Amino acid sequence: MARKTRFIFITGGVLSSLGKGLAAASLGAVLKARGLAVTIQKLDPYLNIDPGTLNPFQHGEVFVTDDGVESDLDLGHYERYLDLSLSRINTTTAGRIYESVLNRERRGEYGGGTVQVIPHITDEIKRSILSIGQGEDAPDVALVEIGGTVGDIEGLPFLEAIRQLRAELGRDNCLNIHLSYVPYISAAGEYKTKPTQHSTKALLSIGIQPDIILCRCEKPLPVELKNKIALFCNVDKDAVFTSVDVKNIYEVPLKFYEEGLDIKVAMLLQLPARHADLSGWRKLMSDFEESSKRSITIAIIGKYVELKESYKSLHEALVHAGTANLTTLNLRYVNAEEITPDNVDTLLKGCQGILVPGGFGYRGVEGKIEAIRFAREKRIPFFGICLGMQCAVIEFARHVAGLAHANSQEFSQQNDQNVIHLMTEWYDYRKKNIEVRDENSALGGTLRLGAYPCHLRPGTLADKAYKQADIFERHRHRFEFNNMFRDILTEKGLVISGTSPDDVLVEIVELADHPWFLGCQFHPEFKSRPMRPHPLFNAFVKASIQCGYSVSESS
Ligand code: GLN
Repeated sequence: MARKTRFIFITGGVLSSLGKGLAAASLGAVLKARGLAVTIQKLDPYLNIDPGTLNPFQHGEVFVTDDGVESDLDLGHYERYLDLSLSRINTTTAGRIYESVLNRERRGEYGGGTVQVIPHITDEIKRSILSIGQGEDAPDVALVEIGGTVGDIEGLPFLEAIRQLRAELGRDNCLNIHLSYVPYISAAGEYKTKPTQHSTKALLSIGIQPDIILCRCEKPLPVELKNKIALFCNVDKDAVFTSVDVKNIYEVPLKFYEEGLDIKVAMLLQLPARHADLSGWRKLMSDFEESSKRSITIAIIGKYVELKESYKSLHEALVHAGTANLTTLNLRYVNAEEITPDNVDTLLKGCQGILVPGGFGYRGVEGKIEAIRFAREKRIPFFGICLGMQCAVIEFARHVAGLAHANSQEFSQQNDQNVIHLMTEWYDYRKKNIEVRDENSALGGTLRLGAYPCHLRPGTLADKAYKQADIFERHRHRFEFNNMFRDILTEKGLVISGTSPDDVLVEIVELADHPWFLGCQFHPEFKSRPMRPHPLFNAFVKASIQCGYSVSESS
């Protein structure tokens, strides 16, 4: 029999960037540690159909799921904390909700009736929420994070939808958690609860009484203050919790557990009372501690170096691999545009590993190529991801294979040395080999999105890292390795270590005569987990640590 799914709605108040996604994911992690089946969903009130085309400056990274959905970085937190592979149903935006209502209207499904925000938009939102709690393997608990801040005009239909759902599903099956901010005013030497009271009132005014108030604050709140918040926000005294600033984001599940947040949630929703087993998270924290004893420096050569959020998963994947190897990674973000042949050795001096991540557009590409040349010639471990792999192929073609004009079609149209190009056969290829995931969606566009199989060649770095012949990795790119140059490049020493199972698409390249040099067309960072670092990141970090040893030995 299908299980009855309980829904936990998480709203945010006072200001944005309080870490609602992290809080939701962390609560999910503790509930999962209690042996419950947990899923999670993000509802974003903005009107974009998906965040794929949003500027990383505004929005952080675009996270890609196995089924090729482009989503925002909160889905990455969810996957990492809950160790789940999420899909289309786990994320939606107001844009997508409106799109489906309007499509329905065009098809005449409303029979000429007036189409309105209430009930049509709210019904569509409810449908979307309920879809994650259905089916044979319905989870015990579904966490639903409402993006934005209470009081935003765009957020209203979403709040109305969760208000209605609670009335429909029953009080015992739904829970409202409100994440608020309790600032510490140092001039007065006190915490201030007024903003929390106000945002709770804003929720109450639209009919939502929070059951739990989660206070984001610098330090744990004194009991009297929690009692005051409970009194004025109309919740139980034991229903006010804190989400304190932590040094390490993976500490949050442990902090929630210490305060008993999961017990309160379990009581309110009448969930089985098993104790949470957080030994994995504790081990992670002690490994972090241990990691502080030694460190290496990894240079990340990118375009959006000022904005770390746009490399979120990459950053986390490196942290996971560093921790697993009990080493702190000092990440030195280097602006690719600043790198020239004259300053590359100064800028990259003292790095034990060099990583060129994915990206779009020509800006900074020549600098990336210069950094790759430096890594290849100086035998420093190199890891190229997506555009980073494409740049590695260009670098090799230019400087080793004698194709002086080698480039990517993304940056040079009329060029007979485009070693990276748009596969004209791509559409036919898709039709023949890949089930088309959703004919009507933007996935029908030119980007290769989502997980694709890759077959590894025995004896290569990739094979040694993965220790298995067939893998699935997530893609998000338009251009591909140009097979016309396969022979020329491999004859000169480029190793093609991973391809699509039919050998048509080149997915991984590497160098044999180098400590560790590998570029992959996919984004391995999306599948790294805190307790299960990604094999390629792990191998790259191991090689970099090795390189660090030789540096200190020789100095
Ligand atoms: N711009 C390149 C392409 O479209 C690489 C994309 C990426 O790095 N994600 O193929």
